[in-house]
Amino acid sequence: MDTVPQVLLAIAAVTAVSVLIYRTIRAYKRYRGKLLVTCPENRQVVAVEVDAAGAAITAATGGPKLVLTDCTRWPERQGCGQACLSQIELSPENCQVRTVLDRWFEGRKCAYCGRVLGEVRWQDHKPALLTPQRELVEWSSLAVEELPRLLETHSAACHDCLTLGSADEERTS
Ligand SMILES: [Zn+2]
Repeated sequence: MDTVPQVLLAIAAVTAVSVLIYRTIRAYKRYRGKLLVTCPENRQVVAVEVDAAGAAITAATGGPKLVLTDCTRWPERQGCGQACLSQIELSPENCQVRTVLDRWFEGRKCAYCGRVLGEVRWQDHKPALLTPQRELVEWSSLAVEELPRLLETHSAACHDCLTLGSADEERTS
């Protein structure tokens, strides 16, 4: 029996399954969690969630089909046409909270030292968000749906000022 075609067939099958799994995982990561979009109805930024599992499964088999599962304006506006989904379809990355924060911090000046923050290094050089009274906003306590509103009034502080204590000095002086 000729085993070469069988081996090739097996390789093709494994490759096809791998591609499907890759697409599913990639789509799931893209669409999970809270996403920020501009509500087409009132032109305000809102936090929404889509059915990430459903998007992942449909992404693997043709293209992601997005369904909204939550929105800051729900349940009052639950019957909306979900027109904001086009923004997520166009660029899910642009709607991710991390991207919105990256864009906001980049080019912003530190409220303490005046240095431009530049590209954010979340792992080892996390910047901070300060209230108008210069109180530190804990990232863990941040409500995503509040974020667009906070970014209009809050300022930024660089990692160095927070760790080197100049922020504390200013606060206590
Ligand atoms: Zn600074």
